[in-house]
Order: sequence, then C-alpha cells, then structure tokens
Amino acid sequence: MEAINKSFFLFLASRPSLDRLAKRWGSKFGADKIVGGETFEHAVPLIQNLNSQGLRVTVDHLGEFVSSETEAKERTQECIDTIRMISAHQLNSQMSLKVTSLGLDISRDLVWENMIEIMEEAVKHDVFVTIDMEDSTRTEATLNLYKDLKKKYDNIGTVIQSYLYRSDQDLDDLNEVNPNLRLVKGAYKEAAKVAFPAKSDVDHNLKQLIKKHLLNGNFTAIASHDDAIINFTKEFVKEHDIPKDQFEFQMLYGMRSQSQLDLLAEGYTVRVYLPYGNDWYGYFMRRLAERPANIAFAFNGIFKK
Ligand SMILES: Cc1cc2nc3c(=O)[nH]c(=O)nc-3n(C[C@H](O)[C@H](O)[C@H](O)COP(=O)(O)OP(=O)(O)OC[C@H]3O[C@@H](n4cnc5c(N)ncnc54)[C@H](O)[C@@H]3O)c2cc1C
Repeated sequence: MEAINKSFFLFLASRPSLDRLAKRWGSKFGADKIVGGETFEHAVPLIQNLNSQGLRVTVDHLGEFVSSETEAKERTQECIDTIRMISAHQLNSQMSLKVTSLGLDISRDLVWENMIEIMEEAVKHDVFVTIDMEDSTRTEATLNLYKDLKKKYDNIGTVIQSYLYRSDQDLDDLNEVNPNLRLVKGAYKEAAKVAFPAKSDVDHNLKQLIKKHLLNGNFTAIASHDDAIINFTKEFVKEHDIPKDQFEFQMLYGMRSQSQLDLLAEGYTVRVYLPYGNDWYGYFMRRLAERPANIAFAFNGIFKK
C-alpha cells in the first residue's frame, strides 16, 4: 500500500499540467503548513521566529527544471536577492538551491556562470550555499559542478542520497575537496538499477555514509526525521568523540517541530529547511510521497511530534 502511495505521489509530482493548476489554486490543501509563503517577505517572520528559538535555517526558493536561459537568469537573480535579504535582515540562515533551476539541463557554461554570480554574492555576505540533489539523471553533473565550485569557494555544500548505489563511491571521490555534505535517504522515484528498492538497505547505507563522512573529518548534516537515524548518529558521535561543530541535524519546516526543539535542548545544532515561493507543487507532492500520513496535516493542519 505504502509503495503504491509513494509511486502515485511521485508520479503526480512530475506532471507539468498539475503543476500549472496548483499554481493557479495557490496554497490550498495545506501546502502553507510546510512552505514558508509565496515571497521572501512572507518567509522573514517565520525565519525570525525559528531563529529566536535557537533553530538555524536554510531557505530554498522553490523551483526546478527551467527550459530557457532567460528563466535561468531570473532564478539566478532571485538567489542573489535571497542572499542579500538574508544579510539585510541579519537572519541566521543559509540558502539551498536546485541547479536545474539555474540551467544545468541547458549547458554547463550557463549553470557555471550563474553559480559563480551566486557564490560571489554569497561570499560577500558570508552566506553558506547548499546545492540540493535532484533525480539520478543529474547526479553526475551536479557532483562535477560541486567539485569544481568547492575548489574555488569554501562556503558551499551539496547532498548525497543513500538510496543510490553509487553514493559510497561518490563520497570517496569527493573526499579530496573536503566536502560539506547533507546526507539524506533520497526523495525521487528511482529505478532498481540505480537505487536500493528496499527501505532497510537505504537506511543501512545512510548509516554507513554518516559514519564514513564523519570519520573523514568533514562537516556532516544529517537530514532525516527518522529517530533510528538520529539516535544512531547521537551514539556514533559520542563513541568517536566527534566535535559538536562537525555535524548538525536538519529537518524540513513543519515536520517534527517538537523533535527539532528537543534536539536543540540536548545541545545539538538543528537547521530547518524552509522552502518559499509559489512553485510549491513538486516539493509538496514529494513530501506526501515520503509519508502518506503527511496527507493528514495537508488537509487538517494537524502536526504530530
Ligand atoms: C533538511 C532536508 C533536506 C533534504 N534535501 C534533499 C535533497 O536535496 N535531495 C533529496 O533527494 N532529498 C532531500 N531530502 C528528503 C530526504 O531524501 C527524504 O526523502 C526525507 O527526509 C524522508 O526520509 P526520512 O529520513 O526523513 O524519514 P523516512 O524514511 O521517510 O521515515 C522514517 C521514519 O521517520 C519518522 N518520520 C518521518 N517523517 C516524519 C514526520 N514528518 N513526522 C513524524 N515522523 C516522521 C517515521 O517514524 C518514519 O517511519 C531532504 C530532507 C531534509 C530533512
């Protein structure tokens, strides 16, 4: 049943016609419970509120897959504006972005040029940037781009997904640039030829990646709502004396809010991923796919610990 739901929502996530409809409806169906408003101005009080509780943030201007250079340039400018606003409002926030929105599928030169513009602004304002990881057809290009950017800039990270068979090798290949990585299970619909079909393998691989990356001495963001992963990390860092500034926990805005505060109270660094913008459809559908119980709060606004 769970598999059917997952495939169904991931199928819906990839429908451009539904995406267009969703934009017309606005934030109906409770998307506003997990999305921080349509503009950065709407997101600012939410970020300030999270910061006042001690939670750090990474904001993501929603949007993926542009098909023209003009759109990619517009998205680049939006990222630059976001960095400027983080700085102007003195927010404790990083920025996450998707390189398909900056022209990854159009040309390497275009996405490189756009990333350089963004990174120059990020350096100027001391804002850390994370390149989110998209579906497996973009993994290679995204990691190559990341590796080259990391040789030029320190304040940049990316994401490794434990559902991909290739991820262990990717971790080894990236190690020469001391990558700053967010480790996740993975949110896209992937075929068994590239990704572990069994959840137990995905979970096991995430633990292996967490161990390896922490022992390599690199900064690790453990991005999961799963207590088994969180508890595993807590024990591992204790056992291996991993300093608290070498890792942090990350969760999505609106998910397990009480657990975020509990981790904070235990002395861990916690960062909340806060998406904003009107392009919320794909993000929202992937969250429903991950956990059909999320449908409950999509319709009722009910949140559980
Ligand atoms: C900060 C952040 C950034 C991310 N960035 C990316 C990215 O760049 N690319 C990408 O592919 N994916 C990304 N993801 C999504 C990620 O890959 C997973 O799809 C997602 O986090 C679901 O996996 P999980 O480990 O949280 O828990 P799951 O494996 O979905 O669930 C395991 C268990 O955790 C508990 N649980 C899970 N969710 C909830 C909830 N909402 N409330 C209560 N209990 C819950 C339940 O007990 C559940 O059985 C990101 C996730 C986070 C948190």
